Amino acid sequence: MQSVDVVVIGAGFAGLVASRELGRAGFEVVTLEARDRIGGRTWTDHRLGHDLEMGANWIHWVQPHVWAEATRYGREIVRSPAAEEAYWHGADGTPRKGDLAEFMALIDEGQQLVIDDVREAMPRGTEPTTGRIQELDALSIQDRFDALDLDPEARAANESVWVGHVNAPLDQVGLSSALRWVSATGGHWQLMHEASATFRVVDGMRGFTDRIAADVPGEIRLNTTVVSVTQEDAGSDAHAVVETGDGTRIRARRVVSTLPVNAVTGIRFDPPLPDAWQRQSAETVASQGTKVWIRAEGHLPRFFAYASQHHPLSVLKAEFYCSDERGDYTILVGFGPEHGRIDVDDLAGVQAAVDAFRPSIEVTEATAHDWMTDPLARNTWMTHRPGQLTRDLEELQQPAGVVHFATTDNANLWGGFIDGAIESGLREARRVAEALERS
Ligand SMILES: Cc1cc2nc3c(=O)[nH]c(=O)nc-3n(C[C@H](O)[C@H](O)[C@H](O)COP(=O)(O)OP(=O)(O)OC[C@H]3O[C@@H](n4cnc5c(N)ncnc54)[C@H](O)[C@@H]3O)c2cc1C
Repeated sequence: MQSVDVVVIGAGFAGLVASRELGRAGFEVVTLEARDRIGGRTWTDHRLGHDLEMGANWIHWVQPHVWAEATRYGREIVRSPAAEEAYWHGADGTPRKGDLAEFMALIDEGQQLVIDDVREAMPRGTEPTTGRIQELDALSIQDRFDALDLDPEARAANESVWVGHVNAPLDQVGLSSALRWVSATGGHWQLMHEASATFRVVDGMRGFTDRIAADVPGEIRLNTTVVSVTQEDAGSDAHAVVETGDGTRIRARRVVSTLPVNAVTGIRFDPPLPDAWQRQSAETVASQGTKVWIRAEGHLPRFFAYASQHHPLSVLKAEFYCSDERGDYTILVGFGPEHGRIDVDDLAGVQAAVDAFRPSIEVTEATAHDWMTDPLARNTWMTHRPGQLTRDLEELQQPAGVVHFATTDNANLWGGFIDGAIESGLREARRVAEALERS
């Protein structure tokens, strides 16, 4: 049986960073990845005649861990097109049209009121369970809206913005997610808005993860699904045996699991996972939406559009302008709160979803990856259900014997984002190195 210092399970951002740190510290590390590619929930794929991000797209300099990695590997950013036109749904459900400034003026008061108590609720983004959040964590974002006395037009627009952010119906998402993101941006919702959906990485996420992978000294074994992790012995000889789908067994002094909460049950752990992992993976976290790329005829104006959380897609934006032998076309990106509400193979259904935003868009193709039914993810960008953050985060961060957990789902600052994945990979690499140096 092969014997190594550390097995890292998963080659997304958390796994790649943990492997790099531990390998460069001189430990023998093997990284096991079930997919035929690295990157996890970041995946640059060529579709609709363009490189498209099927998973994560945007990063920002207020996200310190990802920004440090971008600096390290010389990654440049480029702005997604700024909108000339804005479309949204009014209180009566019918479409409205304006420009960016009008829309921002409409949502300004409501956006501020949703997070107005952020400084008391979560004074430090790096300590998301400290503060009045302990009292507020039972609330959903919908509860918060219901308690505000917003003008109906403003309320409709504000709800659409938040459903776009959190990728799930608002009554299922903890207010904690709104507060966390705004706490991470110093209390400024406008900055949070910019940070979460404005700047993409030149050369895509593939260019980014390829560079980190090239810096990992140990082996990254693709097409290798871990099926079980069994801890043996205790004390100075404590170790785990990691078994893969083809029956290969590897002995490791420490294991780092980077599986998302929703997908962790894909591995049999012995002893079983700590209570918080079992509880939260059984409940699932809140995020459950979809991201869809759409080819539309012609070069459309640069626009963004919001619909309500009851529509299949609640956000639609013009993202790329292209031409091929069929003529000019625009690539749109859309987000919906429930992945089952839209089927990209049903073009008439996609057309109907697009018609709800803005007239005169002719849809000719659509594509997506369903992360919610992908057994290696079962999650998009993590948002918590009410109560999950304060109940479970601390326990989710603790190692169980020689098994450590690094995932964006258990990060402090930008949990759910790439930044959180990197934070968690750095954290667990440090803990593993300290433990191995002691033993
Ligand atoms: C549609 C979408 C849009 C997003 N947009 C953004 C964005 O704009 N900005 C942003 O910052 N974040 C965004 N995110 C979130 C971001 O992608 C994630 O937070 C981040 O990539 C998670 O990294 P991770 O390493 O924690 O987990 P993952 O990337 O999920 O990595 C876990 C790895 O473990 C592997 N694995 C799972 N099970 C096994 C097993 N049994 N054996 C071996 N390997 C296994 C998986 O294949 C995967 O590679 C988005 C996510 C999605 C899905």
